[in-house]
Amino acid sequence: MVKKGDKLVCPHCKEMTFVKQITEMDGWTKKGEILVCALCNGKIADVQQENEQEEKQDKLSALSALLGGETIEKPEVSLNQSDRRFCKDCKFAIRNAFVIRCELSGSVVEAMDDCEKFQKR
Ligand SMILES: [Zn+2]
Repeated sequence: MVKKGDKLVCPHCKEMTFVKQITEMDGWTKKGEILVCALCNGKIADVQQENEQEEKQDKLSALSALLGGETIEKPEVSLNQSDRRFCKDCKFAIRNAFVIRCELSGSVVEAMDDCEKFQKR
């Protein structure tokens, strides 16, 4: 794989050259890093290495989000369940097939909303 600083014969100008890395621009938009010939600026390759690293980081952060999500979410639900003032458990909640409506405000609420006017049924 071609990388920055490599010496090679350029496919464009056929000269012995070395590879330099530049930012490819499309007008004012940064398209990405590419490898070009230092003599003629002809494009030799995309910067593969960087893409692979980004992909790896995505996977890692997805994994840590998964792990972090599990460790953070689980205790929150189980610990606070008893003192949550969920609208679904409130005596002012009027349930029908699709929504829960609050008797006090008259507006539709989410089951897991909590409210300071909560009163346990
Ligand atoms: Zn060249």
